[in-house]
Amino acid sequence: VSTGGLLVYAESNVESGKQVVEKNQPESKKKKVVVLGTGWGGTSFLKDLDISSYDVQVVSPRNYFAFTPLLPSVTCGTVEARSIVEPVRNIIKKRSGEIQFWEAECLKIDPENREVFCRSGIRDNLAGHNDFSLQYDYLVIAVGAQANTFNTPGVMEHCHFLKEVEDAQRIRRTVIDCFEKAVIPGLSEEERRTNLHFVIVGGGPTGVEFAAELHDFVHEDLVKIYPSVKDFVKVTVIQSGDHILNTFDERISSFAEQKFQRDGIEVLTGCRVISVSDHFINVKVKSTGEHVEVPYGMVVWSTGIGTRPFVKDFMRQVGQENRRILATDEWLRVKGCGNVYAIGDCASVDQRKVMEDISSIFKAADKDDSGTLSIEEFRDVVEDIIIRYPQVDLYLKNKHLLEVKDLFRDLEGNVRKEVDIEDFKLALSQVDSQMKSLPATAQVASQQGAYLARCLNRWDQCKSNPEGPRRFKSSGRHEFLPFGYRHLGQFAPLGGDQAAAELPGDWVSMGHSTQWLWYSVYASKQVSWRTRYLVVGDWVRRYIFGRDSSR
Ligand code: FAD
Ligand code: MG
Ligand code: MG
Ligand code: MG
Ligand code: MG
Repeated sequence: VSTGGLLVYAESNVESGKQVVEKNQPESKKKKVVVLGTGWGGTSFLKDLDISSYDVQVVSPRNYFAFTPLLPSVTCGTVEARSIVEPVRNIIKKRSGEIQFWEAECLKIDPENREVFCRSGIRDNLAGHNDFSLQYDYLVIAVGAQANTFNTPGVMEHCHFLKEVEDAQRIRRTVIDCFEKAVIPGLSEEERRTNLHFVIVGGGPTGVEFAAELHDFVHEDLVKIYPSVKDFVKVTVIQSGDHILNTFDERISSFAEQKFQRDGIEVLTGCRVISVSDHFINVKVKSTGEHVEVPYGMVVWSTGIGTRPFVKDFMRQVGQENRRILATDEWLRVKGCGNVYAIGDCASVDQRKVMEDISSIFKAADKDDSGTLSIEEFRDVVEDIIIRYPQVDLYLKNKHLLEVKDLFRDLEGNVRKEVDIEDFKLALSQVDSQMKSLPATAQVASQQGAYLARCLNRWDQCKSNPEGPRRFKSSGRHEFLPFGYRHLGQFAPLGGDQAAAELPGDWVSMGHSTQWLWYSVYASKQVSWRTRYLVVGDWVRRYIFGRDSSR
C-alpha cells in the first residue's frame, strides 16, 4: 500500500487498506472486534464505539480502568486506590448493545488466521489457568507498555516500579515499613539514615511527582508519628540528563529544581545507575566517570517504558523486528498487517515525511500543469498538506511564520509569486526536522481511542449504503482524516500544594493557583461520578485529617 502524497492520495490508500467491506456477506453477521487492554486507549475506544454494529470482545488482565495520573497520590495515601479505579463492567454496561469482557492476558497474536491466544488466571498464579482463543475481523491493540530497566542489573529484583495500582499500593506499604525499621531500638544512626533514604531513579513527570508527594507525606504526616527519626529522612532524585522535567518548558524545570532545593530533595543530575544490589545503588557520575555507592531504604525506578514481550513477538511476525516500538501509519493501522490497529503507549505513529512525497505534492498542487506553483495554487492545498503532514504546521509556528507564503521569500525577503520544484524543495527542506513522535501520555492514548472508534463507526455507514459517498461534502474533506493530536497542555504537581502547568499557546503557570487548576482538571477528567466523588472526598479527608499512615 503506497502512502504517498496529499489527502487525495490518502483516499485510495484508505480504501485498499482499511475498508474491507465484503458485499455478499449476510447483513446479520456482525464484524468481530477484539480489543486488548482496558487502559486509557482501550477504554476511550470502547466508550465511543457504536457497538450496535459490532460484536465486541475485550481482553485485559485487570477488570478495571485505572486513572494513572493519580497513581503517585496513591503511593502516599493522599488518594485511595479504590478511588481511582472503575470496573470495566461498569463502563461497558452503560452502552446499548453488548460488549463481552474476559479477564485474561493475551499471549500471542496470529495475524495470518486473525486469531488471538489468551490465558486467564495468570496474575493470581491460580493453579488452574485457562487457555482460549478468539477470532477477530478487526483487532485493536491497546496494551500499553511496561517499565524499562535498560537491562540494568538488579533493578528487577530490588526496585519498585510505578505503573499499576498494585505497584502504588506496594510502595505505600514499603514507605511505612522503612519508617518502622528505622525506629527499631539499637540501630546506629547510619542504619537509620539508610533505611530512610528514598531514591527515585528518573526525573520525568512521574518520578518528580512521586518525589514531591513522598516529601509531603514525610513532612506533613510521618514526622509527627515518628519524631525520633525525622532528621534522618532523605529523598533523592537521580537523573541522567542535565535537568529534571526536561520535556517541559525550561521555566518549569528550573522552578521544580528550585522548589526541590528549598524542600531538601536532593537532585543528582548527570548520573547514571549502573546496577542495584540489595543495599546499594551503584551510580556513575557522567562528568568525572567516578562510581559512587549509594545506600538506600527504597528505590523507585521510573525511567521510561518498553515494549511488552508478546508485542515484540508480534512485531517479528509482521516484519517490524528492527524497531523498538510497534509502528502504525497515521490512520493507526499496524504497518505490515491488515485489520490490526494499535493505540496508546504500545505503539507509535510513523509520520510520513514531506520530502519523500515532495514531487507528488508539487504535481498535485500545480493544477494548471505549468511546472511552477503560484501562491494561489499552494494556498489551495496547504490545508490538506497540513493535515497529512502536521510537521508543516509545527514548522510555521516554530519559525514564527504567520502565513505559508512566507515560506517562499527570496533572499531579499520579497515573496515570490511563482516557485519551481527546486525552490519548492528548498522551501520545505527543513520541515521534516520538526517531526516529533507523540508522547506516551493518557492524552494521546485516549484521543487515539476516540479517533479509531469514529473511524469504525463510519464504516458501518458505508456498509449500509454501499453506493453512498465516501466523502463528506459538508466539510469537503475526506472522511478518514489521519489521526491528528490536539495537545491540551500538561501538569507537573510539585508538592506543598504547588504545581506547574504548560498550557497551549506557550502559556506557563506555576504555584498554588496552578494546584487548584490541577485539582479541578483532574476532578473533571474522572471517568464516572462515582470516582469523582471518591477522589474529591479523599482530597478533603487528607486536608482535614492528614494521610493514613497504617501499613
Ligand atoms: P494503559 O493505560 O497502560 O493500558 C494498558 C492496558 O492493557 C491495561 O488495562 C493492562 O491491564 C492491559 N494489558 C496489559 N498486558 C496485556 C495483555 N497481554 N493482554 C491484554 N491486555 C493487557 N499521562 C498523562 O497524560 N497525564 C498524566 O498526568 C500521567 N501521569 C501518569 C502517572 C503514572 C504514575 C503513570 C504510570 C503514567 C502516567 N501517564 C500520564 C501516562 C498514561 O498513563 C499512559 O500514557 C496511558 O496509560 C497509556 O494508555 P494505554 O491505553 O496505551 O495503556
Ligand atoms: Mg488501553
Ligand atoms: Mg490506564
Ligand atoms: Mg503511542
Ligand atoms: Mg502552476
